[in-house]
Amino acid sequence: MGRRGFTTRQVHERAPQAAATPRATPIYLTAGFEFDEYEQAAAHFGQGEGYAYTRIGNPTIETVEHTLAALEGGSQALLLATGQAATSVALLALLESGQHVVSSAHIYEGTRGLLRDNLSRLGITTTFVDDIRDLGAWEAAIRPETRVLFAESISNAANRLIDTTALADVARRHGIPLVIDNTFATPYLIRPLELGADVVIHSTSKFLAGHGSVLGGAVVDSGRLDPARAAELFPHLAAPGRGGTPSLLERAGGDARIAYAREAVAARFGPTPSPLNAFLIGQGIETLSLRVARQSANALAVAQWLQDRPEVESVDYVGLPSHPDHDIAVRDLPDGFGSVFTLTLRGDADTARRFVEALEVFTHMTHLGDVRSLVLHPASTSHAFLSDAERAAVGVHPGTLRVSIGIEDAADLIDDLAHALAAASDVSVAVVA
Ligand SMILES: *Cc1c(COP(=O)(O)O)cnc(C)c1O
Repeated sequence: MGRRGFTTRQVHERAPQAAATPRATPIYLTAGFEFDEYEQAAAHFGQGEGYAYTRIGNPTIETVEHTLAALEGGSQALLLATGQAATSVALLALLESGQHVVSSAHIYEGTRGLLRDNLSRLGITTTFVDDIRDLGAWEAAIRPETRVLFAESISNAANRLIDTTALADVARRHGIPLVIDNTFATPYLIRPLELGADVVIHSTSKFLAGHGSVLGGAVVDSGRLDPARAAELFPHLAAPGRGGTPSLLERAGGDARIAYAREAVAARFGPTPSPLNAFLIGQGIETLSLRVARQSANALAVAQWLQDRPEVESVDYVGLPSHPDHDIAVRDLPDGFGSVFTLTLRGDADTARRFVEALEVFTHMTHLGDVRSLVLHPASTSHAFLSDAERAAVGVHPGTLRVSIGIEDAADLIDDLAHALAAASDVSVAVVA
């Protein structure tokens, strides 16, 4: 064969692949993978062996999944493009039309919208439990068609906690998986699967990445499944595969739930993360404990300082003895109380506005878990479309601000807050401005 044309060479000329073992995770930024042997193609499509296409499997993504499963004490993890994708995939893997979710009322607004506005259109309904420490309220909401119990480990926005061990007992008695959004706590502070929960989800955009550069999400499964109960309540896991091949329960055992999420939900609905984003999330995870320990220590110092200030009405930080769930926090969060919480200023929405505008070290944005400290006014942003009563029920008042405390020097954060509190309460300055 003669010398090939310029354009052919442009896409085909490459050095032989080096056999090397990089210490950092290589970024397999590729849509697909070559089949080295002819038979590999059939083996991949038949038995799912090897790599073929990044939506189905990618070594960079799998490295991060492996780490996340190990850190959560789970069996397997599934990395997805965003936290919303993780919640959607986890729920769609368990629920079908006509079924029902019992959820904590104290959850991320994006999750509430998904349950209330999107899954409802697919015939999946949700009952929200407000008093999440009342196990009787959870029990009373469970119906024959309930297939998921859902809660956050540390809630958005008011830091409400559930008694994970006790709620997991309720779930187990009914054979219903307990799904926990562990975004605010991270596996460094609490590992719900080790306390009996069945599935953990994350927005890896937040603490796990930590740098605020990329979005991502994850589903982590305990791998614990009672096969008889699962076959009865989740018949899709027991159904034979295409062409009469073994069912997921036969093929994957305790991992049938996450295998279904991976093969039948994520692969079809398609929220695959970019391998580059997976790499960046993996880089973040390597410093997770250092950041979360520092952020938790900073948050405690800031919350303790804020609670004594005359301009501050209340501080909803679970690390403070005044918080209604402090008792659970002391028992279940021995390594720190997290770093996202709300404070409510005496005054109104204008007081909150002057406060936000006066802050210099805190960044005004809708994000959390970043190395930088962030602030947001929920009543006019994330919670703007709720009624006053709905907002009050989740602890969002006109003077409420949500802060996410970063790794800066605590003294600088407190100085910044002191200056902003003074500016916010100085109405004469605001009138002149
Ligand atoms: C941000 C967040 C989500 C959604 O995650 P995205 O990555 O933004 O899609 C879900 N749950 C909680 C608790 C969050 O903070």
